[in-house]
Amino acid sequence: MVNITTHYINGQFVESKGQEKFGLINPSSNQLLGHVTLGNVEDTQDAIAAAKAAFKTFSTTTREERLDWLQRLYDALKARAQPLSEAMVEEFGAPVKKSPIAAAFSTDEFLHVKKALSNFNFVREMGNAKVIFEPLGVTAVITPWNSNALFICRKMGTAIAAGCTTVIKPSEMSAIQTQVLVEALHEAGLPPGVFNVVVGRGDVVGAELTRHPDVAKISFTGSTATGKTIAKGAVDTMKRVTLELGGKSANIILDDADFAKAIPLAIMNAFLNNGEACNAGTRLLVPEDRLDEVKKSIKHAVEQVKVGNCLDEDTFIGPLVSRKQYERVQGYIKSGVEEGAELVTGGLGHPQGLSPKSLEEGNFVRPTVFANVTRNMRIAQEEIFGPVLSILTYKTDEEAIEIANDSIYGLYAYISSSDMERANRIASQLQVGRVSINGAPHDTGAPFGGFKQSGIGREYGEIGLEAYLEPKAILGS
Ligand code: NAD
Repeated sequence: MVNITTHYINGQFVESKGQEKFGLINPSSNQLLGHVTLGNVEDTQDAIAAAKAAFKTFSTTTREERLDWLQRLYDALKARAQPLSEAMVEEFGAPVKKSPIAAAFSTDEFLHVKKALSNFNFVREMGNAKVIFEPLGVTAVITPWNSNALFICRKMGTAIAAGCTTVIKPSEMSAIQTQVLVEALHEAGLPPGVFNVVVGRGDVVGAELTRHPDVAKISFTGSTATGKTIAKGAVDTMKRVTLELGGKSANIILDDADFAKAIPLAIMNAFLNNGEACNAGTRLLVPEDRLDEVKKSIKHAVEQVKVGNCLDEDTFIGPLVSRKQYERVQGYIKSGVEEGAELVTGGLGHPQGLSPKSLEEGNFVRPTVFANVTRNMRIAQEEIFGPVLSILTYKTDEEAIEIANDSIYGLYAYISSSDMERANRIASQLQVGRVSINGAPHDTGAPFGGFKQSGIGREYGEIGLEAYLEPKAILGS
């Protein structure tokens, strides 16, 4: 049994002052893996004090020094990629084929930040002024459970590149992954207090970080509801915020697309990370007169997707992270049926034939596709965060754009087409932070973030780094 009782404060693992024990559950079986002792307000304040003290010197370090720290963090985590990957399987339910990739993506975040830092211009001429980009101060990093390590590495790495120090509050449901990660990062030997980690509840540790006057910025990834609470709290001390929030991304297949490629891509985009991905393409928009063909090929393809044992090499979808998430997704499948959508494949309950038998106790969901979904249905509007795909139809490009934009969210969109001019014209009219045409992969040099209620600000590259800096204009210099 795992028993995590420490936080990482001022370069040391220190016993939690909080007393509450939180159970860590294996989502594949709902068996208890162990406990983590949650931090309290005092732990959080200790971490903030350490980060504040470290900021004095760390904010004056040179670009070369920070590049060196980032490389050391990368090297330290790379050496522990295997245990990190194993923790993702055990605690999150990542299929074993995917978890090494997720661990490598997390590690690589330090290299992406290095690249942005290498090219960044900290002193610029603007008007008659010299403008200096200075580190903001202590940054609070708050992460969700669906890619905890990746977000910690990205946000902490960017803060370090900017010369900021951090207090990290990971998801309490990712304590094992966090422990492996922090033990690895400790080996990099950064000055004490540059990064601090307190595992705890959002409404305790997260709320103190939001409230505390010595925190200058919050970088948050999580749900839109929590993002709003943080933004409201942060304004009292005028903290800067970067909010990466929910999504309900549209995937538009145009009539000139290669459907043999577009359909498998649509399934990949909808079900990535067990369907627990902010940028999942969960609204599939297809030409009305091609619906029957799409339904047939989607049904066939989805029924080939293997759901089940994370340890099997051919598993594509593992369990949902918690019983709560499982019930939530079941609720959406039920609502789709009740609101009159057509169930193409999947449905309520567990998939058949889970092996070994213990998996029947896990949070496995049948990958589900609905057709004849209308714009006002909950399954067309709300973020489900599970492997559920809603198919809607359109008659014209204008209608496809209108449906895609008919959302409170605006994180991502996907387009499949053989006509690049047409695809680009549509992309330019979508109210989203990113558009991927014909499966173009994620690019860490380009900004990532949402329009509308998908967030505030951007991560990655020059724009991402600027969000941790304050411009100061010096006139007459
Ligand atoms: P969540 O909002 O419930 O929790 C996220 C983090 O916020 C956790 O660490 C939690 O403890 C903390 N928190 C909760 N209440 C808080 C409060 N009052 N003050 C401060 N912190 C608080 O989200 P989740 O369920 O962990 O993650 C899933 C959500 O994250 C989905 O909505 C998903 O779309 C979103 N997400 C967005 C992105 C993106 O880049 N846009 C990426 C991944 C996930």
